[in-house]
Amino acid sequence: MEFQTRCVHVGVDKDSAYLSATTPIYPTSTFRWDDLERNRGFDYTRSGNPTRRALEENIASLEGGIDCRATSTGMSAITAAAYLFEKGDHIIAGKDIYGGTYRLFADILANQHLEFSFVDMLDLDAVKAAVRPSTRGIWIETPSNPLLHVTDMSGVCGIAQEAGAITIADNTFCSPYLQRPFEFGVDVVMHSTTKYLNGHSDVVGGCVVTRHQEHAERIDYMTNALGLACSPFDAWLVLRGIKTLGPRMEAHQRAAMAVATMLDEHPRVTRVYYPGLETHPGHELAAKQQDGFGAMLSFEVEGGREAAERVLTRTRLFQLAESLGGVESLISYPETMSHASMDEGARRAAGITAGTLRVSCGIEHPDDLCEDLTNAL
Ligand SMILES: *Cc1c(COP(=O)(O)O)cnc(C)c1O
Repeated sequence: MEFQTRCVHVGVDKDSAYLSATTPIYPTSTFRWDDLERNRGFDYTRSGNPTRRALEENIASLEGGIDCRATSTGMSAITAAAYLFEKGDHIIAGKDIYGGTYRLFADILANQHLEFSFVDMLDLDAVKAAVRPSTRGIWIETPSNPLLHVTDMSGVCGIAQEAGAITIADNTFCSPYLQRPFEFGVDVVMHSTTKYLNGHSDVVGGCVVTRHQEHAERIDYMTNALGLACSPFDAWLVLRGIKTLGPRMEAHQRAAMAVATMLDEHPRVTRVYYPGLETHPGHELAAKQQDGFGAMLSFEVEGGREAAERVLTRTRLFQLAESLGGVESLISYPETMSHASMDEGARRAAGITAGTLRVSCGIEHPDDLCEDLTNAL
């Protein structure tokens, strides 16, 4: 089946009792056993639930994996993935990874049992130079946040293979509609399903997708042992959201391309970061790795914080809010919002200035979105 057909159908037809067209929600903590030896495949919802299982089958198919576990948040998916490693293991990650991931790695896990190096993932020599005898993992996030740096997945996977390490990709920004990291040699894929997979800004969730049996078993064990799984109702919402993933991503991208082009020509805008623009340094690589350029973009306005604030408080369609990937357009200010946990020096080193604004393009009509931003500018 083609991708969008799988979005609609895989895992969905689960009701043998009444043949409902959609997946039933099983809001139960526990399941009866037939006798002392047998149950119907589920015994307790922390370990497994039929509604959640439907979602997991669906996402595993979209990414091309063998298994998936759906978790309560993107962060709990990252937590589960981090438990693929053992005491003393060293992990290489990008300098500009999602702030919550950085906090988990640098503030929590680095004080417990793992070691981390944060490098510029655009520089493959720097990635190679960071490899140690204890390196067991490389964490990939592409395109990155908020400046949309595009990492060469095949290149990084080659380095990992040589080092005897595995690669894990956070595929949240693209969704499997636009990018399937397994095709480039990545070993494990995770998502914040809060974003494009659910797509309607009405749930938080995550997932870990695997393609090796040993990883599938370890992730299954960890989501159960650590209690990371999502509720049946949340699983159902994400499964419903995924059914429209393809058409939504097409509409998201159309809007983003129109907005990026408008901003690129606007006299008050000094820089636009969108991989769809030919001037973006990651354009060619994105064209190779991705089936489209996505709907996240950033831009810099002339006049620093004051000018940024004027724009951020004057849009009417673009809501001033964090997060991304929903049908409604959002605009945010990395300086005080998504990247506030970085110190100023780290932000400047990462290329984020007082005039940098981040946009998540929704699926509204591109003309209305362009007009809204033009008016605000
Ligand atoms: C939002 C996000 C996360 C964290 O997901 P939550 O659902 O908020 O826990 C991780 N990675 C990326 C790229 C994200 O955008």
